[in-house]
Amino acid sequence: MENNSTMAQPVVIHGQLHVEGIQLKDKNNDAVVLRGMSFGWHNWWPRFYNADVVKWLREDWDCSVVRAAMGVEPEGAYLDKPEWSVEKIKAVINGALREGIYVIIDWHCHNIRLEEAKKFFTEMAKAYGKYPNVIYEIFNEPEHQTWQEVKACSLELIKTIRAVDANNVILVGCPHWDQDIDLVADDPITGFSNIMYTMHFYAATHRQPLRDKCDYALGKKIPIFISESAGMEATGDGPVDDAEWNRWITWAEANKISWLTWSVADKDETCSVVFSSANSNGHWEEKDLKESGKKVKQLLRKYSGSNK
Ligand code: CA
Repeated sequence: MENNSTMAQPVVIHGQLHVEGIQLKDKNNDAVVLRGMSFGWHNWWPRFYNADVVKWLREDWDCSVVRAAMGVEPEGAYLDKPEWSVEKIKAVINGALREGIYVIIDWHCHNIRLEEAKKFFTEMAKAYGKYPNVIYEIFNEPEHQTWQEVKACSLELIKTIRAVDANNVILVGCPHWDQDIDLVADDPITGFSNIMYTMHFYAATHRQPLRDKCDYALGKKIPIFISESAGMEATGDGPVDDAEWNRWITWAEANKISWLTWSVADKDETCSVVFSSANSNGHWEEKDLKESGKKVKQLLRKYSGSNK
């Protein structure tokens, strides 16, 4: 059963978010766990970057957050087509504003592109920093950079965003595709509020050793946000490990950590949640959903307390 009343909208309920210790909290100072879907790279799956898909993810999948993953470096992505790219990202952001859900503006890049990122986030903060819906993710999955390099770049971007937007949450990446959160724990960013660190898991590859690293970081008061995750191997392909995926979500929920699943796309790989039959405007039927899509839809409904 769908409840589309304004009062049920997550942003109406929770409002402006902030971080206290390791916990994401809402306007009433209550702990909040956001759950949702990441869109795939906008440059490859632009057909899903529209307000109708956001609406579908909110109404049918019970997402309280979506992530607009703006590809930066590939051909046809932001560096190549900035205006078109921003238009695609804005379609998802505006959809989230309309649906009253949170939205992560994700700089989907594996390398440091500091000047370009500063320009982009200044534009985003000016346009959207006044909305409680918005979360900034300044560096998706650093690949080969050290934490010192990622930290220096992140500090510059945090200063850039904070010059425009004093309070919305900023997500910081960590080395080795967002897995070396233990390095962050030993040398965190200080002097800024409402900062969290991203950790990404792919359950068939990343298991208890990564959860152990996260527990170490939590013990050192590092706030964790899972901006991307899924149930198969780190390549995004191969079989879904259902039991291990469940272990991860149980762990995240027990720790009140927000999580998103990768991704809204129709590539021929396990992690893309829909088949190419899926409509570009949502209204997906069961036959349009891959195994990972069916599974995550169930998880989102279950943990959001949906009565669907
Ligand atoms: Ca703000």
